[in-house]
Amino acid sequence: MKKISLITLGCKVNQVESEQIAEKLESYGFDVSMGLGVSDIYVINTCAVTNEAERKSRNYIAKILKLNPSAKIYVCGCSSENDPNKFKKGDYVVKVIGNKDKLSLAETIKNDNLESKNLLSSEYKSRVTNRTRADLFVQNGCNNFCTYCIIPYLRGRETSFPLNEIKAELKILETLANEIVVTGINLSAYGKDIEGSDGLIEIARLFKDSSARFRFSSLEVNVITEKFLSELAEYNNFCDQFHLSLQSGSNNTLKAMNRHYTKEQYLEKVNLIRKFFPNAGITTDIIVGFPTETEDDAAETLDFIKQVKFSDMHIFPYSKRNGTAAEKFKNVAKNVAQRVKDVSEVSRQMKADFINKNIGLTHEVIIENQKEGYYLAHTKNFILCYIKSKTELLSNQKFNVRLVKSFADGAIAEII
Ligand code: SF4
Repeated sequence: MKKISLITLGCKVNQVESEQIAEKLESYGFDVSMGLGVSDIYVINTCAVTNEAERKSRNYIAKILKLNPSAKIYVCGCSSENDPNKFKKGDYVVKVIGNKDKLSLAETIKNDNLESKNLLSSEYKSRVTNRTRADLFVQNGCNNFCTYCIIPYLRGRETSFPLNEIKAELKILETLANEIVVTGINLSAYGKDIEGSDGLIEIARLFKDSSARFRFSSLEVNVITEKFLSELAEYNNFCDQFHLSLQSGSNNTLKAMNRHYTKEQYLEKVNLIRKFFPNAGITTDIIVGFPTETEDDAAETLDFIKQVKFSDMHIFPYSKRNGTAAEKFKNVAKNVAQRVKDVSEVSRQMKADFINKNIGLTHEVIIENQKEGYYLAHTKNFILCYIKSKTELLSNQKFNVRLVKSFADGAIAEII
């Protein structure tokens, strides 16, 4: 059953009319609630008694989209009668009907049959993480069956969302955040199930005229090609941080994990990234203590990560998941806590080196929040900046900064 929220501003007449609309909607089988809540469809019954009332009426659109970025909105009442154009922003506003047709609104909504015609597919949901950064969910499922991973059993096979739905979602997200993170369960598989698709680069093309900058959440080596990188390099709003899953730097362990590359192939892709993006942040995930990981494998991994020079790493001690192939592997990994310590130490040093390399350089940042007297913001290559400012900086504002010195887990930066 579709959920509808009715938001009413202004006078008693509006209240009564909203109740009439609600009653009719309920008779058509909708689940109706009054006021702002999480729903599929919204009706804003607006007021124009003052400028402030009109402003409040318009502000409800942003409030609704924060709750549900895929919402479909109908606007009626005096403010929309007064100036319908003020509400025609983005395709989430389905109709602006003023006062004349207000009482037949329930019928209109029923006839529009948004469930089948206009709403995004039920599987398709993006998530706003904060006011600065929003996630654009473009792909679900995974066919890779890495031997340690349960995800393909839970999420099913790879499915790419249709480009037109992603495009519509992006339009909404752009109004909410200045940075979009393109995400999926196995993002690199985007387009494999769409005939004639150019893959993930098609998503990058959606950002061509976007006001938002964008980054990819996590990539597999197979997607890193000369063609992919050379096209990405054309986008000024692309964030040069590549989270490239490694998992292990030992070829034996990679094979046992059913990862389809060797460490040599991985390094080749890293070098290719650096050819196009010399100052890229290259981050990764590592699993330490995989059941087949011998002392030699662990040493090989440690050597390899030093060779790559990651800007940051997520380090996970192996954890057995029931139902995976690795569950049945004989466990020969020893001293896992020490291995985690060793990898963490190298990771800390590499991160410090990367930050130091960027001291004195200019970067674009977007303000996120505040902590202990500093404004926090990330560079495109994902260095956390700590910024002091005498004037108030608003979250989602973009600035150019110079990195002054390393500090905590990032760097002190000054606005230029
Ligand atoms: S680790 Fe990633 S690529 Fe491997 S099976 Fe899990 S979701 Fe798929």
